[in-house]
Amino acid sequence: MPDATGVAEVMLGLPGFRVIEAVESDDELVVTVETIPELTGCPGCGAVATAHDRMPVEYRDLPAFGRPVRLVWDKRRHRCEEPECAMCTWTEVSGALSARCLLTRRAALACCREVGLNARPVAQMARELGVAWHTVMNAVREYGEPLIDDSDRVGRVRQLGVDETTWLAATREHSTKFATSLVDLERRIVIDVVEGNSAGDLASWLDDQPVAFTGGIRVVATDLAESYRRGLEGRIDQATRVADPFHVVRLANRALDTVRRRVQNRTMGHRGRKRDPLYRIRKLMLTGTERLDPRGLDRMLLGLRVGDPDNEVLGAWLAKESVRDIYLAESTDEAELLIDKAIAACRLDAVGEVRSLGVTLTRWRTEILARHHTGASNGPTEGLNLLVKKVKRAGHGFRSFANYRLRILLHAGGVSWESIYPSTPRIRGRAPH
Ligand SMILES: [Zn+2]
Repeated sequence: MPDATGVAEVMLGLPGFRVIEAVESDDELVVTVETIPELTGCPGCGAVATAHDRMPVEYRDLPAFGRPVRLVWDKRRHRCEEPECAMCTWTEVSGALSARCLLTRRAALACCREVGLNARPVAQMARELGVAWHTVMNAVREYGEPLIDDSDRVGRVRQLGVDETTWLAATREHSTKFATSLVDLERRIVIDVVEGNSAGDLASWLDDQPVAFTGGIRVVATDLAESYRRGLEGRIDQATRVADPFHVVRLANRALDTVRRRVQNRTMGHRGRKRDPLYRIRKLMLTGTERLDPRGLDRMLLGLRVGDPDNEVLGAWLAKESVRDIYLAESTDEAELLIDKAIAACRLDAVGEVRSLGVTLTRWRTEILARHHTGASNGPTEGLNLLVKKVKRAGHGFRSFANYRLRILLHAGGVSWESIYPSTPRIRGRAPH
């Protein structure tokens, strides 16, 4: 590197540009650049253009050495001297520095990747770059929307998962807002997110899909919501309906939790505290027995003896275990036997929460058993729920459903990031003759 200017240009990383000056202030670095001059032809007639004047345009770039960077492009304006030509003056353009966006292309792409792929908060990126929240969000939209709209993103789906999520917690102004996630259970990606959780919301999404898509679906797994069952009525009839195992087990876990909290409140007179016997074993109780070591099991049973005088929590725990057992069955016959045992026991239980679990199991018996002969996998919904939670945490409550959808799909929608970020840097060499 012969001189300091050369070093600055290498670090700038903008081919065709050079640094005029770099000024440091307390909280930012201001780098002024211009294009390397070359002969320019008039876009109208092709005659050699004359330099007219300059027009500085400001951009935010990626931070350098821990400080936000302001990039000033001292744009050249050209003039055509041909008297017959309609082009009077024009300004130069660059792919790296768009005329519409306040961010350099690479800074905008970094926003899209950090917020989308890595689920980082928009506000954090905005602070790092020294720009407003909406500047970052606009960049995520500009580069992210083509990625989620890419027709190759989803492809053929054989196992469709339908799953309810909350996208906005209740506030004083509105109740909890729900969304429906459509999931490819084999590729483990979110296909789409729809606002609402009603039968109609699901039905109209399905009706919008091309026949080539819906016709290929072999299995539909849903949570145990009647609305989704109704939404599927008369649609994708060739597919086997399955109750998603994750949701079936979660339902049993929730029944157990409800009973535990109720008994805790009654016996202790307050909500769970660290030293309460039932509160201390809440996680042990939710763990499958096959994963508990003897010490854990002893601790759990002791907690129940101390904290559960009428064996209500014990009953709910046994019910939960009987539901988990269904999924340990090795054949459909075994699974049928186990679900009928679980249903019979639940329906005879003295505890209301356990009886109503029995009612739900009865209503979804066919769909719960269907899982055994479709081979629909167990894990994806749970894993994708975790990804959705991560995006929600980063968003601190979304105001716009479109932004929520975009960010979920960028993070968990199987987007092909390679199309805008080549995975291996291209090394330019001499072209062979
Ligand atoms: Zn001209």
